[in-house]
Amino acid sequence: MKIKNPRTGQYYYEIFPPTFEELKDKTNFMRESQEVWKELGIEHRIKALQAWKEVVNEHKEELIDALCMDTGRKWETILEVDLVASSIERWSNISRDFFSIIERKTSSIPFLEIEQGYEPYSLVGVISPWNFPLLLSLIDTIPALLAGCAVIVKPSEITPRFIEVLQKTINHIPDLLGILNYVEGGGETGADLCKLTDIVCFTGSTETGKKVYQAACDNFIPIFLELGGKDAVIVTETADIERATSAILWGSVANAGQSCLSIERIYVHRNVYHQFLSRLVGKANLLQLAYPTMDSGQIGPIISEKQVAIIDNQLDDAFKKGAVLKAGSKKCEELDGGFYCKATILTNVTHDMKLMNEETFGPILPVMIYNTTEQAIDFANNTQYGLSGAVFADTEEEAMKIARKLKCGAVSINDAALTAVMHEGEKNSFKMSGIGGTRMGPSALKRFMKQKAYLINSQKVNDPWWFG
Ligand code: NAD
Repeated sequence: MKIKNPRTGQYYYEIFPPTFEELKDKTNFMRESQEVWKELGIEHRIKALQAWKEVVNEHKEELIDALCMDTGRKWETILEVDLVASSIERWSNISRDFFSIIERKTSSIPFLEIEQGYEPYSLVGVISPWNFPLLLSLIDTIPALLAGCAVIVKPSEITPRFIEVLQKTINHIPDLLGILNYVEGGGETGADLCKLTDIVCFTGSTETGKKVYQAACDNFIPIFLELGGKDAVIVTETADIERATSAILWGSVANAGQSCLSIERIYVHRNVYHQFLSRLVGKANLLQLAYPTMDSGQIGPIISEKQVAIIDNQLDDAFKKGAVLKAGSKKCEELDGGFYCKATILTNVTHDMKLMNEETFGPILPVMIYNTTEQAIDFANNTQYGLSGAVFADTEEEAMKIARKLKCGAVSINDAALTAVMHEGEKNSFKMSGIGGTRMGPSALKRFMKQKAYLINSQKVNDPWWFG
């Protein structure tokens, strides 16, 4: 399978996906290894991950280079690599706390007590997308390892260059041998993983998520799906416009809009619309493409060619239906074989346009006027997605009143896209944005364990319901 460089459009790398039989052998070995891993105890597992963290740090530059080749952008890549260490730190603390408590409690029957046990799933399959290749391949992997599972990860075939470097760091840690493995491959390998693992954590499109859900059903295993979004922001007439425009621009344009939690719809109260629009346009026009070098500007290339076609199609549809261009350009532009999209602001948008309904995954900011708070809430909720959203208002109270009515899993208040940087808040993905327990916050750890109740007749009294 040949892979293109997003900055040049040239093939620069090749991956060799494993056959089903090869994958089966690997997963069998991993299941055996996990028997030992789970018995090592939490402190030993934390030590192994801390040691891995050090090795990743030693290979930081190599990892950054590989990820830059995968994605064509730098700033976000550095952030991704830095997050490995902080994520291991955070999950180590959460797991230590979790495993230090043995839950023993009395029951409604006076002579019976309950001890709560947890049994880690043997093998977790992680399937991840291309927009944050490292971060999203690890977001479920680290807590799963600490819970006592073995984990096999299949990142996207669009951004696979980093796998080799990361696997090299894993191979330095003897305790992780057979416990953590990255494999290359596309959809077929992902589908194979769904047949060979005990639980699947999938991050990707809603379309593929449905297939993975079906496969998990056939295999009768639990599934966690983190899928697409169409996040809305509501800017009330009391909002600080200077603040709102800066935050929203970042929330829409960071990573060239290639984030599930990007702001993709902007609803602004009629009384502040013109002021808002002129500040947003002014700020958007200051942003530059990260071309000809990665350091040249803030907006890197669109990583996936397929996404370029989706963005162009949505823009074309919007202009045909009457949208007006206020900043940016009418389509993605090709520069030396890479495709780029400027921060693009559109007005005169309507809800029959694709870019107001379907996920765009590009730095496109459609701005629409609303008249009443109820209308803004209706607009924001009128989507098949329910990932996250944002509200700007003068007081927290006013913003929270609106936020409580939004049908999505996380709402940034007087800020935007905060789930990108804050992983502590427990949240579910609503509607077609996902299914399964929260991946963030302490309770996410429990996803990787089966609960087991030990029901103890601690006083050894005869049960009154026995026959004799
Ligand atoms: P995608 O669905 O095309 O692919 C995701 C992964 O699934 C890839 O590794 C791919 O090889 C694999 N895959 C493809 N077919 C499969 C199958 N039949 N069985 C198993 N695996 C299969 O998504 P993408 O284009 O890589 O990523 C972009 C999407 O991911 C966007 O929709 C975005 O919103 C979403 N996303 C969601 C979150 C979140 O946390 N909710 C985060 C990032 C990205």
